[in-house]
Parts: sequence; C-alpha cells; structure tokens
Amino acid sequence: MEKTYDGSCHCGRVRFRVTTDLVSVSECNCSICCKKGFLHLMVEPSKFELLQGEANLTTYTFNTGIARHTFCRTCGIHAFYVPRSHPDKIDVHIRCLEGVDLAQIKITPFDGRNWEAARAAL
Ligand SMILES: [Zn+2]
Repeated sequence: MEKTYDGSCHCGRVRFRVTTDLVSVSECNCSICCKKGFLHLMVEPSKFELLQGEANLTTYTFNTGIARHTFCRTCGIHAFYVPRSHPDKIDVHIRCLEGVDLAQIKITPFDGRNWEAARAAL
C-alpha cells in the first residue's frame, strides 16, 4: 500500500515528500553509490514533491553526465538525484526518509560496476 514519507538532507534545508509502497530498493556497487551508501528507490516525478531547498541544491556529474547527482550545498547529503538508468525518474535515498524501518525492506543488489550489462538484464 502506498504511503507518504517525508525526507530531508542532514541540515534540513532540503526537504521533500514521496509517495510509495516502499517494498524494495536497490543497492548499487558503482564507484559513487558505494561511497554514498545510497539505497535507491525509484519514483515517478509525480510521486515526488520538493518542499523546500531548491536553491540549496547543487549538482555533480561525471562519466556520461546523464545522472544528475544533486546534493545539499550546506551539509553535502545526497538525498535524491536523477539516475542514469531512468533519467525520467527521481531516485530517492531511503536512508534520508523518516519512519523507514530498513529491516522490513527487501534490498536488491544492482551491479553498477558493470552498468551496461546490469542495465540490459533488468
Ligand atoms: Zn543540508
């Protein structure tokens, strides 16, 4: 069943809200995700609302430049971004959501180090 979750960066300047059933997320082993500890929840833009902090977001890009790694310019937390695999979606880091019990969520590995092959297998 879908629920609404509030999320934020560490300092609280960036706040957002997502609506999701939050059944499963993916954990990617690529160069940036493993350093961030990002747990990916892909949502449609219509299920995502940026409540505040747009001016506090800055964007990091590398490699193909398709993924838009947005993060808070004050605290540095990457709470959500636009992923390379689904540039039409918003990818939310569920550790930044309130009221989420990680033990109840299925975490599926994604082999981002071999991105082309892993993407083709989805
Ligand atoms: Zn912040």
